[in-house]
Formats: sequence, structure tokens, C-alpha cells
Amino acid sequence: MTQSMDYVETPKKYVSDNALVIGGGVAGMQAALDIANQGYKVYLVEKTPSIGGRMAAIDKTFPTLDCSACILTPKLSEVARHPNIELLTYSEVEKATGHEGNFTIKIRRKARYVHEDKCSGCGECAQVCPVEVPAEFEEKIGFRKAIYLPFPQATPAVYTIDMDTCINCKRCAKTCTRGAIDYEMKDKVVQLNVGAIVVATGYKLFDVSVYPRLGYGRYQNVINAMEYERLINAAGPTHGHLIRISDGKTPKDIGFIQCVGARDVNKGVPYCSRVCCMYGVKNAVMAREHDPEAKVTIYYADIRAFGKGFEEFYEMAKTRFGVNFVKGRVGEVVEDSETKDLIIEVEDINTAQLEEVRHDLLVICPGLQPPDGLETIAKVLKLEQSEDGYLDIEDTFSAPVTTTIPGVFTCGCADGPKDIPDSVTAGSAAAMRATIILSKAGAK
Ligand SMILES: Cc1cc2nc3c(=O)[nH]c(=O)nc-3n(C[C@H](O)[C@H](O)[C@H](O)COP(=O)(O)OP(=O)(O)OC[C@H]3O[C@@H](n4cnc5c(N)ncnc54)[C@H](O)[C@@H]3O)c2cc1C
Repeated sequence: MTQSMDYVETPKKYVSDNALVIGGGVAGMQAALDIANQGYKVYLVEKTPSIGGRMAAIDKTFPTLDCSACILTPKLSEVARHPNIELLTYSEVEKATGHEGNFTIKIRRKARYVHEDKCSGCGECAQVCPVEVPAEFEEKIGFRKAIYLPFPQATPAVYTIDMDTCINCKRCAKTCTRGAIDYEMKDKVVQLNVGAIVVATGYKLFDVSVYPRLGYGRYQNVINAMEYERLINAAGPTHGHLIRISDGKTPKDIGFIQCVGARDVNKGVPYCSRVCCMYGVKNAVMAREHDPEAKVTIYYADIRAFGKGFEEFYEMAKTRFGVNFVKGRVGEVVEDSETKDLIIEVEDINTAQLEEVRHDLLVICPGLQPPDGLETIAKVLKLEQSEDGYLDIEDTFSAPVTTTIPGVFTCGCADGPKDIPDSVTAGSAAAMRATIILSKAGAK
């Protein structure tokens, strides 16, 4: 059955011209904006307290080294201010029934214990909160309070109380002059009627602790690429000072290990994650930008620089920034117990030599995986998942953003790893497909 046949056969079923977008990363935001700009109402559902997704936490973007937040922040406010977009953050889809043109959706709005319409985002509540816990947004390198805004540009600019760590001292409530805090707040379930759905649930990082030999989680100076992004970010926990966690010193010899978890049929995933080569190269360049004296080495299996400007960026990393590239898989990582340096074993494939190398910081570059909870979303919407766990699409060549259920589309990393430009392109494509359906509901 093709979708167009379906439209012709059952024209009366197109009831709603509202859309639902699930996931407020850059792909979902793009889809929401493109649908909203065509005059349709969009409900944008995001499970965390703020939209922005991973791009909000990334420092610079390859291949141009533009500041990620500088590109994202205007988009965050465009989404927040758009008259056709209703943001449902800290919310999750629980149930869906119906069909293309007429879906009924139940959404759980989790209690954030702060009224969105009263909170001005002033932050006085967090200043008086005595509880400090590791901040998820800072990859647990920095801290946040029990009442918190995930990051300064969080959208909406509304605080949330993490009741698992709140000690109920009520200092925040006493400080809030707007009466925004409500400890008795309960989850609410709301029901929506929409004609089309876009799933943009993104990805999670591969859990590198499945390779105990690399020492991640055991040695303080072995970190992953997302932690590195926060460490070099001027808005991050160290205000952009790249330091070793063990002693706060500036690293002088940094190793990046590529392809961890990706293209590994034994312990990892068989597919290539498409973004790790370039984010690894970017982060190596950034290390040299931060400290031109630092020695920087990338251990790689292949460098896949397939996108526009990528090959040139890779060449520039070697020639202009002096990044050292070693083709070879890293074996055992051992910590020097005195200095907390890392000694790695690596076979340099080009020289066929087994070498022992010392670094004072190791950055692991993991592949991407489907996010936690994608199975639940797939079950609720009756979507199929492909073997790799991402959402299945109808046809790679002619319908790359169409899922196996009519009226439900996918974009960004929900159906497989993508970089930001490809995620945005897919967001626009999914929006276009969605509005074809929405337009059937009324005279638009
Ligand atoms: C270390 C690192 C560096 C990178 N650097 C770059 C770079 O420089 N340039 C580049 O082009 N790309 C880079 N990338 C890739 C980039 O992160 C992705 O291309 C981009 O984030 C994909 O956007 P997305 O919207 O698909 O997913 P995400 O950014 O993951 O957003 C998905 C959103 O959906 C939400 N969500 C998930 N499940 C649900 C649910 N069930 N209900 C509601 N909401 C849900 C999530 O909370 C999240 O907000 C990098 C990746 C990594 C790991």
C-alpha cells in the first residue's frame, strides 16, 4: 500500500491539522519550525526539562568550528516564541491510537514542582538551595542544585525540582516571590488530537565500559568525548579550561581513541556511527587551539570524512594543526599510579610495530546507539525497529523519513546516526511529509 493510494481511498479520515513532534533536539526543532511556519499547530514533546538535545552541550561544530550554542540559541528562542508551537517539556508520550490524519495521543506531563506560567527563570531559588548534585548536562563533571535549570539557555527558562535529591527544606519556596513552587504538584495526563507525527528522539552514546581494557570509569584521566566537549566549553564546568580530572593540571599529551563500540561485531555495534571520525578530528584540533604546545594523537581504524568540507578539515588537522594520526587499534590501557598518566599499547598498522605510548589524558570517542526508551515509543506508535535498534523506514531511496506506519515520520538520529546538517535536512523533510497530510484536514 502506498500512502498516496491511501489518501485517495479514505479522504474523510483527515480530521486534525495539528502535528506532534517527539524529541526536541535540533532535528525535532527544525521539523517543528518548518511545520509551524506553514501555519499548522505543533505540539513539541521533550522528555527532559529543556529542548536543545545534544547540540546544546557540544562546544564547536565540525567542519567550520562554529560555536554550537551560537547556532542553536536563536533556534531555541524561535521555537519558544513561535505562536504555532506549544512546548510540552518534561513530558512523554504514553498512548497513541488512531491513524494518519486522526491520531489521539496521551501525554504524561511530569510534575516539575514549579509552575511554568509563574517561574521567571530568575534563579534565586537555586541560589538558596543547599543541595548540590552532579549535573547531567555537564556529564556529571559539574554540579547543579536540587532545583535547577539544566543550562543557562534552557528553553523554557523554567526551573525544575529533582525530588530524588530535594531535602524538602522549602528554602526555594520561601525565596520565590512569584509563588511558582508547588511541592504538591502531580503528574498530569493530557490528550491531543493530531494528524501527523514526527519522531526525533536522537541517540545515546555507546557505553564504553563494556571495554574494561580501556580503563573508562576506572582511571580518572580516561574520559569520553561528551565529557571532553563540556571540559573545553567556555560555559562548561571548568569555564573552558581543559584539565585532567585527577589533578586539575593542563594535559600536555592527549590521545583520542576512535571507533569505540562502532564497527565491532563482537562487543559493540556493527555499523559506522558516521559522526565520530569528524567529532574526534574536531576535538583534536580544539585541543591544539587551546594549547598549541600540546601533543595530540588520534588512534583510528579509518577516517571517514565523507561530508562537505570534511576531507579539507581532516587535511587541515594534519597540516595546519599538527595533529598526529596513527592507524591502529588500542589494546590495554594501564594507569601510572603515581602520575595518573595512561600507558597504552597500540599496534601501528602502517609500521606493523607494537608500541607503548604514554599520554596524560585519553579521550574515548564512542559510537552512537538508539536512545533509551526508543523501544517504548516504537511500541506505543506501533513502529518497527531495524536490526540495529533504530526506527525502520519505509524505503531508503524514495521515503527516507517515512516510517512503517502511515502518518508517522522520523528524522535526525531516531532512524540512524547523523551529523547536525543531515539531522536538520531530515527534520525539514519530515516536516514536508507531515504537512502533506495536515493539508488534507482543511482548506489551507
Ligand atoms: C561528542 C559528540 C560531538 C559531536 N559534534 C558534532 C559536530 O561538531 N557537528 C555535527 O554536525 N554533529 C556533531 N555530533 C552529532 C550531533 O550530536 C547530532 O547530529 C545531533 O545531536 C542529532 O540531533 P537529534 O535531534 O537527532 O538528536 P539529539 O540531539 O539526541 O536530540 C534528541 C532529543 O529527543 C529527546 N528524546 C529522546 N527520547 C524521547 C522521548 N521518548 N520523548 C521525548 N523526547 C525524547 C532527547 O531528550 C533529546 O532532547 C556530535 C556527537 C557527539 C556524540
